[in-house]
Amino acid sequence: MQKKEYIIALDQGTTSSRTAILDKEGKIVAMSQKELTQIFPQPGWVEHDPIEILEAQIATLKEVISEQSINASQIVSIGITNQRETTVIWDKSTGKPIYNAIVWQDKRTVDKCNDLNKNGLAEYIKKTTGLVIDSYFSATKIHWILNNIKGAQDRAEKGDLLFGTIDTWLLWNLTDGKVHATDYSNASRTMLYNIEELEWDTKLLNELNIPENILPEVKPSSFLYGHYSYEGVQLPISGIAGDQQAALFGQACFTKGEAKNTYGTGCFMLLNTGEDIEYSDNGLLTTIAWGVEDKVYYALEGSVFVAGSAIQWLRDGLEVIKTASDSEFFANKIKGENPVYVVPAFAGLGAPYWDMNARGAVFGLTRDTGKEHLIKATLDSLAYRVKDVLSVMQKDSKTKLTSLKVDGGACVNNTLMQFQADILNVIVQRPEIIETTLMGAAYLAGIGVGIWNLEDIENNRKLSSEFSPSITEEKRLNLYKKWQKAVERTKDWID
Ligand code: ADP
Repeated sequence: MQKKEYIIALDQGTTSSRTAILDKEGKIVAMSQKELTQIFPQPGWVEHDPIEILEAQIATLKEVISEQSINASQIVSIGITNQRETTVIWDKSTGKPIYNAIVWQDKRTVDKCNDLNKNGLAEYIKKTTGLVIDSYFSATKIHWILNNIKGAQDRAEKGDLLFGTIDTWLLWNLTDGKVHATDYSNASRTMLYNIEELEWDTKLLNELNIPENILPEVKPSSFLYGHYSYEGVQLPISGIAGDQQAALFGQACFTKGEAKNTYGTGCFMLLNTGEDIEYSDNGLLTTIAWGVEDKVYYALEGSVFVAGSAIQWLRDGLEVIKTASDSEFFANKIKGENPVYVVPAFAGLGAPYWDMNARGAVFGLTRDTGKEHLIKATLDSLAYRVKDVLSVMQKDSKTKLTSLKVDGGACVNNTLMQFQADILNVIVQRPEIIETTLMGAAYLAGIGVGIWNLEDIENNRKLSSEFSPSITEEKRLNLYKKWQKAVERTKDWID
């Protein structure tokens, strides 16, 4: 009998490193996870130890294989997905990082970003990289390391150092220093990559004094990158994508106009814009979704800073619920219309309002307002914010959304998902497996070695639930109008 074959997905996230094994039917058969130490050297600074990342990733990989008593020869492919933008620079000959990984959340390069803005580069950066100037992206983090670690700039210029986002760092180590590469999706988050010409941008490299020789080669997301030698067997590494793009792929949003939203601490929305590059007039990001089967696909990306964290506020701040899932129980107590609106602008408002001086507020209180009204209104606010962003995404990309695919911790809330469908007037689809990031990495890897194609993946995708709009257009418009009125009143609150 032929032995069963498996695909491995490595998911190196901000808070943990995970490894999953999938069978050829795309089912997750086992998973292993290790938490990651968060290092905060100063207010606003966030770092990870690259060696800890690497060791944890390899440890989970070995653990999950040995637990399943799988033979190395049964593994046909490895895919990698990763926290995006986080920056590592290491010595080419020793393999040692010259500084900790600077995490995407890190704000130490805000001043440098302001300089780039002052130098009039915003429009150029938007056109070439698709991004808005921000300390999130790798570019100014690389600049910081080269400028602040003694001798780093010289060593970089001499060709002694290498830069990588986390995918590249893992790949280089797994291939024993043989392969220094990344994929289009990760390259498009560095703020150094020309997403149209598909090459590193010389003008931006010069502006930040970054020698091109430290940068990885950029390859398609499904591609035979190299091999990891495990128990004498050469395992192909054949898929790489940044976490949000991997989730879009894992949700099988393969065609223009398809979108996914992840309801986590914040919300991350990506809309596939096909082979067309669409730029936003509302501060959304243009990014490469993936390169697969000789084509490069693009996406518009938007995020909502406060989403699941508003539910955490109900739980830990107001203490009106004990667990996040209680929010559904209380919300369901409200039968008619809820007159209460909560705008959780705890740290200002992002797209499409962009008002950092806005602050949260509750509207519509009356003497009979109970905690259930407040809880339902907070849940509703997630759906309204998603509508705010998706509306401008559709406008910017001139496409019309037909359905929204959902994942992330809060997508298990049926009341929220129903309200989302109602307020968006599109069908909301929740997959059976909400581990879409892992799935995306595995799918890309499977395609990379030719065991799957896009059609297989679409056929394999199983829905757990579908939510259809169930309110009238009039009601939808009225609700949303009220929401926008509430948002208006939170703006420009702090001086
Ligand atoms: P992250 O990856 O950002 O840490 P997760 O995808 O794990 O987030 O989702 C966790 C978030 O989802 C938390 O902020 C939590 O408040 C919220 N959440 C979890 N379950 C529910 C639920 N049933 N209803 C509403 N929100 C929920």
